[in-house]
Amino acid sequence: MRSLARRRAHARLRARVRAVLAEVGVPRPWDLAEFCDRVAAHRGRPIHLVPTRLPAGAPDGAWLAGPTVDVIVYDADSPALRAEHIVCHELGHMLLGHTGTGLGPVITPDVPAALLHRMGVLHRTGYDDEHEHEAEVAASLIWKLAGRELVAPRRALPAAEAAVVDRFARVMERDPGVG
Ligand SMILES: [Zn+2]
Repeated sequence: MRSLARRRAHARLRARVRAVLAEVGVPRPWDLAEFCDRVAAHRGRPIHLVPTRLPAGAPDGAWLAGPTVDVIVYDADSPALRAEHIVCHELGHMLLGHTGTGLGPVITPDVPAALLHRMGVLHRTGYDDEHEHEAEVAASLIWKLAGRELVAPRRALPAAEAAVVDRFARVMERDPGVG
């Protein structure tokens, strides 16, 4: 059965995400780089996107928070749509005031992937399920506001990209309290 409290919590979360996205502004037409710039301006610190080759078993993206810069790493092998989803998810964490995985003072935007691996920072152990769900909702709303959701017939998409769209659709359609 649905829980009224959970439905209300979900509605509050979506309102919260919409409010912060209204402040930041979602570019239309959609432009991920432009959106990153806007989020960075909103936070007052630069955001660097670093595609890299991630080890097996690692999450396919992470937000690494340095003292003065935020770094989003994502799997360089991800299809473009999937990579955008990963980045939007991590931006969602930022916009919702979550805390990134701390990097300490050593981070530079071009820190070699091998160093990242050695540092063991690629495992997003710091987030609880609630924050993960919140970031997913944020990512889906970013795309919805950008007019990107379900823009292409699913059958026309490569399987990997169709899976991303399906995942968005599930988040968007998720009925809190069910599943
Ligand atoms: Zn996350």
